[in-house]
Amino acid sequence: MGRTSKDKRDVYYRLAKENGWRARSAFKLLQLDEEFQLFQGVTRAVDLCAAPGSWSQVLSQKIGGQGSGHVVAVDLQAMAPLPGVLQIQGDITQLSTAKEIIQHFEGCPADLVVCDGAPDVTGLHDVDEYMQAQLLLAALNIATHVLKPGGCFVAKIFRGRDVTLIYSQLRVFFSTVLCAKPKSSRNSSIEAFAVCKGYDPPEGFLPDLTKPLLDHSYDPDFNQLDGPTRIIVPFVTCGDLSAYDSDRSYPLDLEDGSEYKYTPPTQPPISPPYQEACTLKKKGRLAKEIRPQDCPISAVDTLPQ
Ligand code: SAM
Repeated sequence: MGRTSKDKRDVYYRLAKENGWRARSAFKLLQLDEEFQLFQGVTRAVDLCAAPGSWSQVLSQKIGGQGSGHVVAVDLQAMAPLPGVLQIQGDITQLSTAKEIIQHFEGCPADLVVCDGAPDVTGLHDVDEYMQAQLLLAALNIATHVLKPGGCFVAKIFRGRDVTLIYSQLRVFFSTVLCAKPKSSRNSSIEAFAVCKGYDPPEGFLPDLTKPLLDHSYDPDFNQLDGPTRIIVPFVTCGDLSAYDSDRSYPLDLEDGSEYKYTPPTQPPISPPYQEACTLKKKGRLAKEIRPQDCPISAVDTLPQ
């Protein structure tokens, strides 16, 4: 793919670089906020699965300006520093990482927990959905330790076959649960975002990291859930009607007739796992061509040019 062909194909990718965002994902959080006013009154937030950091950029800009803003960002991958963002490198499904995050909020809980986590997609839909659900549940588990009552939780969700079970689990902890699809999220992707407002755990609930939320003894056919156990949450699309369509190609010609100028990525990944493959490809020594679907989602968003 040439230097500008990706710019032509993906308008949000191009806009992200022009506006200084580290990834096109920034627009997803901005469009979710437009619809749900996520940042209202927020001074402390956690960004789970944060690299390369565009959601942390949005958070630090939106809540950092209020003086006491405080963002903790966590990812498996190293992330370049961001002003006002405390970074933790670790796996959110691991007890040690969860404990490290929680200790930052002891006595001073967070107003908002967001998680844009995505596993490396295998192409086996059931496996990918399962892994995604595990990430979401790990994020929810951390949220139950750090969120203040009434707080908000936003997490990427794959709308697969068993999504009903996840909605039911989220509804145990939040008064409102919605499924939202920002305009910048490709229609072709099963990705959406669970927007959960009003943290209100059941009376007597004590957060416990030793008990995984996903109980493997559940009947696997979750769509058979019936009555009050089957929860159908509202599905909301968000982003202004005039916003760009993320599945369409837009020409590079500028409206004022001036020539299009290529913008390099705001923050290329520091040491991505696919670095060696990219170097070999540049030298023409890579046996197999890298296809976008072989790269992790974060890599596709920020693949060095
Ligand atoms: N929201 C980010 C942004 O705006 O820059 C993009 C996040 S990217 C789509 C998904 C991230 O999830 C990747 O950086 C990946 O390393 C991270 N991730 C996947 N599994 C994880 C885990 N178990 N613990 C921590 N991070 C994880």
